[in-house]
Formats: sequence, structure tokens, C-alpha cells
Amino acid sequence: MTPAQVIEEITRSGLRGRGGAGFPTGLKWSFVSKAQGDKKYVVCNADESEPGTFKDRVIIEGDPHSILEAMTIAGYAVGASEGYVYVRGEYLLAQNRLLQAIRQAEEMGMLGDHIFGTNFSFHIHIHSGAGAYICGEETALIESIEGKRGEPRSRPPYPTTHGLWGKPTLVNNVETLANIPAIIRNGAAWYRSIGTPSSPGTKVYTILGHVNTTGLIEVPMGITLREVIAIYGKGMKNGSAFKLAQTGGSSGSVIPASLQDTPMDFDAYAKAGVSLGSGALLICNEDTCVVDLAKVLMNFFRRESCGKCNPCRIGTQRSYEILDNISRGNGTLADLDILLELADNMNQLSNCGLGQTAGTPVRDILKYFRAEVEVHIRLKVCPTGVCPVGKLVSVG
Ligand code: SF4
Repeated sequence: MTPAQVIEEITRSGLRGRGGAGFPTGLKWSFVSKAQGDKKYVVCNADESEPGTFKDRVIIEGDPHSILEAMTIAGYAVGASEGYVYVRGEYLLAQNRLLQAIRQAEEMGMLGDHIFGTNFSFHIHIHSGAGAYICGEETALIESIEGKRGEPRSRPPYPTTHGLWGKPTLVNNVETLANIPAIIRNGAAWYRSIGTPSSPGTKVYTILGHVNTTGLIEVPMGITLREVIAIYGKGMKNGSAFKLAQTGGSSGSVIPASLQDTPMDFDAYAKAGVSLGSGALLICNEDTCVVDLAKVLMNFFRRESCGKCNPCRIGTQRSYEILDNISRGNGTLADLDILLELADNMNQLSNCGLGQTAGTPVRDILKYFRAEVEVHIRLKVCPTGVCPVGKLVSVG
């Protein structure tokens, strides 16, 4: 196949990025292919730091060659000669397996100079992260590879034209890349026979929380949350009742039981105002306090905010303080308006995805569980007894 045919096949497969945004992969490849540059790069984003997400680690540990093969195919398609895998620092086993796989591929002539005796050469390096959540953001990741502080760049220009060392760079997530060899081997039509018309293929989810079986699954796109809980989670823990789920990691949406039957694909979820995100499914039962959940999540964001822009740096801190006050019975109803305003400002004014999505769980909780939050304020009790304000003790 020519490079153009490879991109055409990936485009026809309908593959969409599995890192969270769902951007069409073939389109991204075509942008890098058309970009002008004496050198181009392919970067695999394996800095999986979203709490509850461990799919990329399992993919790399289980089949590191699938990623190397995919990066090499991508390099051939877009005209790149060098690739980097940016791996989360804590993923030592994944790093070792990748290094071993690189050695094996080079010995077999599948990687390095003149691959299979052709004029195409491609080299892959491993870069270990240093433990910053923000380095999963593609431009912060690029800064980090360049040896700088891991802070997101202002965009545009985008990495597709001005990426690593200012050169056109293709950044793809591990799971996205893991689909590539299978698509090239079996064809776009085969890939489209799995999943839904708007989101073909499979998706890897991590299941966590109050279910009988937690773990990792790969299922066709379009499965519902109710099916995931019943079939793979083996039901709610100890027969407890489902209360809510957070889809897509800490910055993902919080959804109530009424959205359990929405097919999990990019378009159906977007239509319902839900983000599919990275594929972490946190399942919570009736013992979960929504104020406590929002506070824990906001604590994470205020700590991980890189501090480059004010809406995120100050917005996450102020949101946390307000949620902490509410959890202690010191909140006011006016605080809820401020929380929504902060979420809105962070969403519209922040420089990168961290700040833009930090307010998503708070917004959803106030949309679906406002009464429970108000009880903390008006009656100064936590219905589940999780918050410091305490539970109403019944006398009988
Ligand atoms: Fe840094 Fe937050 Fe601004 Fe992103 S939104 S650049 S994480 S301060």
C-alpha cells in the first residue's frame, strides 16, 4: 500500500481517538501527512494518569508489538522517521516490555534503518514521564519530551503542524494505535462490522466501584452501562442499588440511573451531554455522597492544575473550598450559583482540557442531584453520613 492508501484505509474504517476526544484518526493522519516539514514525528501518548484508567498499561504490557507496529505504519503513512512513546513513569513493567519489544523488532528488521530492505526507516524511543497528570495533554507531553516544564502550549498552532521541536507531529493514544494493525490486516469494512455506524470498533473500559467484579473489558462500541454492570460487573455489590456512574475518569460526566440505557458511543453520549472520556467507568451505589465525590474530584484537579492560567488555577481551588464548606455544613445556597459560574468560566476560559473539564462533575451533580447537595446546606446533614457534617441520627 502507498502512504495515501494507508491513510485512506484508516479514514474509511471510521476509527476515532480513544484517548477521550474521539477525533477521527484518519483525518489527523492526513493533516500530518500534508504538513510541510523536513522532519516529522509520531508520538504515542502512554502517560495514562486519569484516576481509574489503566487500559493503556494493560495493552502495552500484553502486546507491546501492536503499538510499535502501529507507530511504524503511522510513520510510513505520514512521512515520519522517528517516534516516541511517552510512558507514565510508574509503568515500569510496560516500559521494560516496550524496550524488549523494540530490541526484538530491530533484530527482526521490522524497525530501524531500511525496514524489510526498503527505503523506509523508522526509529522508536521511550520517554518516561515524571508523574504529572497534565503531561497527558498532548502539548504538555511534547514540552516534557523537549526537556521543558510540562505545561500545555497555547493552540493554534496544533501539533499536526508545529509539534515536537516545532515539526509536524502525530500524537495518538495507545488504544487508538492498538487498533491500527488489525484494521490494515483485515480491512476497513471488517472494522466497520463491529460497533455502531458513528463509532465503529471496540472500546476498552475499566470497571471500578460498587460492582461485584471490577476489571478491564474490551467490548463493541454501543454497549449500554446497564449491560456493562449486569454482564461484566456481575451486578451491584451485595445487591445494593445503582445511584450514579462517572464515565471517562475524573473529568468525565456524572450520570444518573435514567441514562443507563444510552448506547456508549461518541455520538449517542454527546447527544445526551455525556462524555465517554478515557473509558473509566466508576460505578457508585446509594451509599455514595455526591458532595464528597465532587470534593474528592476537585481536590485532584486543584493539585494537578499546572497553574499556567488563572481560570483553572484559581477556579479549581475556589471550587474545592466551597465544596469543603458545604461538606462541613457551612455552605450557602448562593454557593451553588458560584460553583456553576466557576465551572462555566473554567470551561470557557481555561487554556487546556484539564481546566475546561474540571467543572464537569460539579455541573452534572448539581443538574441531577441538587436536592442532595441542598440538604447539606439547608438541614446541615449528609444523607449518607460520609461528610464531616454528619448524618441525621434517628431516635427510635
Ligand atoms: Fe494549566 Fe489548568 Fe491552564 Fe491547563 S487549564 S494550562 S492545567 S492552569
